[in-house]
Amino acid sequence: MAWRSSGASNRDLIENLWRNKLITHPQVKEAFLKVDRGHYAPSFAYDDSPQPIGHAATISAPHMHASAVEHLLPFLTPSETHPRRRVLDIGSGSGYLTHVMAELVGPEGTVVGIEHIAPLRDLGERNMGKSAEGRAFLESGRAKFRVGDGRKGGVEEGEEAEKWDAIHVGAAAAEVHDALLQQLKAPGRMFIPVDDEVEGWSQHIWCVDKDEKGEVTKRKLFGVRYVPLTDAPKA
Ligand code: SAH
Repeated sequence: MAWRSSGASNRDLIENLWRNKLITHPQVKEAFLKVDRGHYAPSFAYDDSPQPIGHAATISAPHMHASAVEHLLPFLTPSETHPRRRVLDIGSGSGYLTHVMAELVGPEGTVVGIEHIAPLRDLGERNMGKSAEGRAFLESGRAKFRVGDGRKGGVEEGEEAEKWDAIHVGAAAAEVHDALLQQLKAPGRMFIPVDDEVEGWSQHIWCVDKDEKGEVTKRKLFGVRYVPLTDAPKA
């Protein structure tokens, strides 16, 4: 699947993801078209493959970003009952997905990217600053980048414990961390790769839903290969 959607330009790549039904919602397509992956991937930006971004991290492949947004979509876009979406992007890395999700939450929404490596936190912000739209998101606070351990979620100390409509985890977790479940709104949804040892894949994506009553259900989606969610490297 990886190479089939590769393109010669951003538009080409997104049109190929659409043609291959990896993007199926027009709103998702529109958001991806607005963000130039060339601002985020240092090499082969329009290939449908992960690329190294330094610090042993990678920008995930476009079809993985597409899948994450397709699954989280009902919890990203504002509605009459949920006008102010709050979204957490754990392991924001290049900042690409933080930007795509910021397109979808609308002017009242917020997307927070969290990184445990400070230079990667800065990289995400710098990459977003390459476009006028990205700079506007940073200036208005629609998108923010923070340093922290994403396994603990994204609520800062002293900050009102506001929960998240959607949580995207961009690195493989040892488990569905309790802190993250706690910080998910009811209703809310989390897209998270989790380590396991079955079916020849060592990780699977889980779609974790919390309903209005706070009841949690987990759906296992498909096998993946992500870098692990770890302790921050020693400086
Ligand atoms: N969504 C990013 C993925 C980057 S790779 C992108 O597509 O660009 C995964 C990222 O998770 C790495 O940047 C890594 O530094 C970060 N990471 C790993 N463990 C973490 C932790 N405990 N807390 C926060 N970030 C973490």
